[in-house]
Amino acid sequence: MAYELEGGCACAAVRYRLGSEPMFVHCCHCRDCQRQTGSAFVLNAIIETDRIALLSGDPQPVSVPTDSGRPHDIYRCPACQTAVWSDYGRRPGLRFVRIGTLDDPAALTPDVHIYTRSKLPWVVLPEGVPSFEAYYSTRALWPAASLERRRAALG
Ligand SMILES: [Zn+2]
Ligand SMILES: [Zn+2]
Repeated sequence: MAYELEGGCACAAVRYRLGSEPMFVHCCHCRDCQRQTGSAFVLNAIIETDRIALLSGDPQPVSVPTDSGRPHDIYRCPACQTAVWSDYGRRPGLRFVRIGTLDDPAALTPDVHIYTRSKLPWVVLPEGVPSFEAYYSTRALWPAASLERRRAALG
């Protein structure tokens, strides 16, 4: 069966389809993500750029300041400005897709909770999902197949 997760922006000018399951799913509670989303955390599905099929529209990058100083470009619908994915660190082969833009945002659940040191106090983390005060060891947590995909995507 083909992998069928589709999503898009609020005005539907941007529509996309994911070509496979993501490598890993982050729930990030850092201050950058809180400010940029205006919410408690962000949900990112990490996937190869070439596995995102753009069905319509042309998301445009907007560079945002970060606490770490690393570059972060948020790709937004030019019409309604919904953020559909991010490029962290100017790595053209990797995208962080905003799970809230999926037609079925329940289709993907976080594999890890990160930067919980700035988690809002009323957010209760689920048992059994790894969580870290800051970042974490990709090597220790990701499945071997996902690490291999990441290596290939980064060239
Ligand atoms: Zn739009
Ligand atoms: Zn974050």
